[in-house]
Amino acid sequence: MSLRAWLVCVLLWAGCLPHAWAGVVDASRVGELSLGRDLQLLEDPDGTLDIAAAMRSRDFVPAVDGRTNFGFSASTWWVRIDLENPSPRPVSLVLQQDYPLIDELDLWQVQDGRVVGHEATGDRRPFASRPIRSRDFLFPVTVPAESRSQLFLRMRSDGSMNIGLTLQHTVPLLESHETRQLAFGLYFGGFFVLIVYNIFIFLAVRDRPFFYYLLYVTSYGLYFAIIDGLAFQFFWPNHPDWGNTSLLVMLSLTLLFGMHFTRSFLGTPRLTPRLDKVAFGLEILSVVAFVAAFGFSYNHVIIPISYLTIAITAMIITMGIIGLLRGVVAARYFMIAWGVLLSAVLVFMAKSFGWLPHNAFTQNAFQMGSLLEMVLLSLALAHRVREINRQSRTDALTQLPNRRIFDQALEREFVRHGQRGEPLTVLVVDIDHFKQVNDVHGHAFGDKVLRRVAKALADALGGRRMAFRYGGEEFAILLPGESGAQAREIAETLRRVVQEQTAALATITISVGGACTEDADFDHPNALFGAADHSLYAAKRGGRNRVVFHPAA
Ligand code: GH3
Ligand code: MG
Ligand code: MG
Repeated sequence: MSLRAWLVCVLLWAGCLPHAWAGVVDASRVGELSLGRDLQLLEDPDGTLDIAAAMRSRDFVPAVDGRTNFGFSASTWWVRIDLENPSPRPVSLVLQQDYPLIDELDLWQVQDGRVVGHEATGDRRPFASRPIRSRDFLFPVTVPAESRSQLFLRMRSDGSMNIGLTLQHTVPLLESHETRQLAFGLYFGGFFVLIVYNIFIFLAVRDRPFFYYLLYVTSYGLYFAIIDGLAFQFFWPNHPDWGNTSLLVMLSLTLLFGMHFTRSFLGTPRLTPRLDKVAFGLEILSVVAFVAAFGFSYNHVIIPISYLTIAITAMIITMGIIGLLRGVVAARYFMIAWGVLLSAVLVFMAKSFGWLPHNAFTQNAFQMGSLLEMVLLSLALAHRVREINRQSRTDALTQLPNRRIFDQALEREFVRHGQRGEPLTVLVVDIDHFKQVNDVHGHAFGDKVLRRVAKALADALGGRRMAFRYGGEEFAILLPGESGAQAREIAETLRRVVQEQTAALATITISVGGACTEDADFDHPNALFGAADHSLYAAKRGGRNRVVFHPAA
């Protein structure tokens, strides 16, 4: 035999080695092994087989392409794993089923054709039925020295039939659990902090969307705790029936609160009244699902709720897009949050279809995305508080800072004038014969003029020179750091600019009263303002459309 042929033979043999015992797992070599291709499956549509029949059955077949997720399946599924241990020592392993929502899960260990162990658990049975108390299913398995044995699993579930079996040594299992528990702690800790933080903000601002957000984030967090099997483990370990119902209950509540939060946050009753009515209809369906969760069996409710989830998600996104198109600022933050969640869902789906590799990131993308969404929605709410704050400082008609802010600014600048010795001027501006403008053209036109005047004033000023709407058709202006002469010039400019900028609408003039700290001693900011106000009356008496400074000549 030539060297080359010999090499080919060796390589072939080596390549075949893992398959030498096709379908048989060498227990003495297992570190951590995902059992996609090493298990045999048997579908039992009527659920009539017992362990004796399963042991006799010759109908077990390998999983097609290692695929072991069957979606909603009414069948009972049997799994057979063949183990051997050629080593002279017994091997202790742990069999793990990663999806914790299987209703009934039975494991038999068989040696030499005899059943040597049987565990009966599943999330329809009390938590204490688990041989190892963990959120997922863990079974200790011992394979005696120099022997072969078989594991038989029987699985039945009203929900999704996801068979995710792994055979592991205790050491890698413990190590991976360390990381996983930390990740769970971070994840649910995140939800917890969001809830506490937003409770405090809600108590402070009493703004409705915060309240709906709180309900939303709480039901959402609980929903994930249920999906991950943690709620059953820690909250209601002795109530497996509620454990199953709770998933439907929390899902329908999450849908209800998510929809309601969206409507409240985006203000859809005003933004898009017709769509809002449809959204209200979806909320009613969520309430129906909530009630049905208690009265009907799991598999009758879960599929309608899945459709409702799609409908509500589509509605939320549609409303967000409408908000964006109509220029609602809150909708931007809202859509960033939802965009993150949707991208995460896409990553997760791409992984499920095999377009992206299966790793910790893709596997947990959906769950991480959901927390990130909640954080971003919380930021969107924080922006809302900022907006409420801004509105309380701003005059709604002219968008100038309001009277309250003027009072504060006057006080502040007056103190600064006292400390630094720089001059401070106050101008009070009043539109001439404005009542007539209203009387002739109507109030809507009057409002338009007010906005135009405010814009003319604001554009002509800037920096530390600030204009405020004092009330009615009166404006106040602060000119810190300007000399009396400069202030008079600025006042004249304003008088001219306002007339020019409003010329297209009507003939609008203003009277301006001014007072500068250079021209007299003022012991209080109100005295400075009072002097400017007096000067305004002097300007009115003097024939309007003019600037008069204190003390009048
Ligand atoms: P004068 O030259 O003496 O200042 O005469 P005037 O008509 O401007 O003064 P008056 O104080 O008699 O009237 C002010 C008017 O401003 C009365 C009120 O209807 C109008 N006004 C006040 N606030 C607003 C507003 O927000 N919008 C509109 N359209 N009008 C307003
Ligand atoms: Mg007036
Ligand atoms: Mg007036």
